[in-house]
Amino acid sequence: MLKRAKVLIVDDDPLNRLVLEKTLQQDYDVFCVESGEKALTFLKTQTVDLLILDIVMPGIDGYEVLTKLKESATTSMLPVIFISANTSHDDEAKGLELGAMDYITKPFSAAIVRARVRNQLLIKQKNDLLEMLASIDGLTEIPNRRYLDENLAREWRRCRRDQTPLSVLLMDVDHFKRYNDCYGHRAGDDCLKQIAHALVGACERGSDFVARYGGEEFAAVLPNTSVKEAISFANKLRNAVNELNIPHKASLNADHVTISIGIATTENGQVYAEQTLLEEADLGLYQAKDAGRDQIVSRMIAVNEHE
Ligand code: GH3
Ligand code: MG
Ligand code: MG
Repeated sequence: MLKRAKVLIVDDDPLNRLVLEKTLQQDYDVFCVESGEKALTFLKTQTVDLLILDIVMPGIDGYEVLTKLKESATTSMLPVIFISANTSHDDEAKGLELGAMDYITKPFSAAIVRARVRNQLLIKQKNDLLEMLASIDGLTEIPNRRYLDENLAREWRRCRRDQTPLSVLLMDVDHFKRYNDCYGHRAGDDCLKQIAHALVGACERGSDFVARYGGEEFAAVLPNTSVKEAISFANKLRNAVNELNIPHKASLNADHVTISIGIATTENGQVYAEQTLLEEADLGLYQAKDAGRDQIVSRMIAVNEHE
């Protein structure tokens, strides 16, 4: 069953808005705006599952609204159905070529609008599910590297734009090869699952997230987090793994499973690329290993160092 989806209707004609709203409100949460400008403003702060977009409107028209939506990462995948009194094939072709999912001509039949909206929402629901599955690590069921890369890129752009701090943590299980050799690969898998769960459980802020970076490595992205706060958070993660107290008699630095953590922080977005943050965190991790493991090493990226 479809969850109650959100549909935004954009049409300058009040009667059309009213009829469309009445057509859809029984099944969906419906929002209405009367211009392209208002639609773009609305979508800056709210998310919807589908847009029903008139083409001919005063101010920016529907084609331009769609073009703008396609340019923004947050709205480029939002399905759009054009609804227009323009009935020529050329208009329809233009709308579909710009990336609209469907094109309905006015005057419209309520039953057809309902059916086409439902079809697009079913496709969206499947796409969302695929997107989610492609972002989840199969073993630990936490976000995977793909998810991390996409979100880090977004957070990095934000931190550059707003000149806010951003911290990245790279974590690696200590002497994990010896753990597998001692307890077996299946026990190793189970150990990774427990660690993943503990790391995710330690995240309190909604904007922080932990992902499996690969193998026995994990990463965390902490928006708006200074060096001091990142070190404190890293200690929390290190403690969370220590508190699992998973026996590791083959470890050379403790009698239980531990992790080492490298931290990289930029306090005002002065970094070439998000990749620099990962590289710096990796250097920190290397130093933490070198210093005896079960350690945290923080690297601050100084202003202008990389520019
Ligand atoms: P260090 O403290 O320097 O990190 O030593 P290490 O032994 O943890 O590092 P190394 O890179 O030598 O070994 C990593 C091991 O992690 C080897 C690999 O088999 C194991 N590993 C990676 N992914 C998985 C996995 O999904 N499951 C299991 N069980 N083991 C994994
Ligand atoms: Mg490793
Ligand atoms: Mg390791």
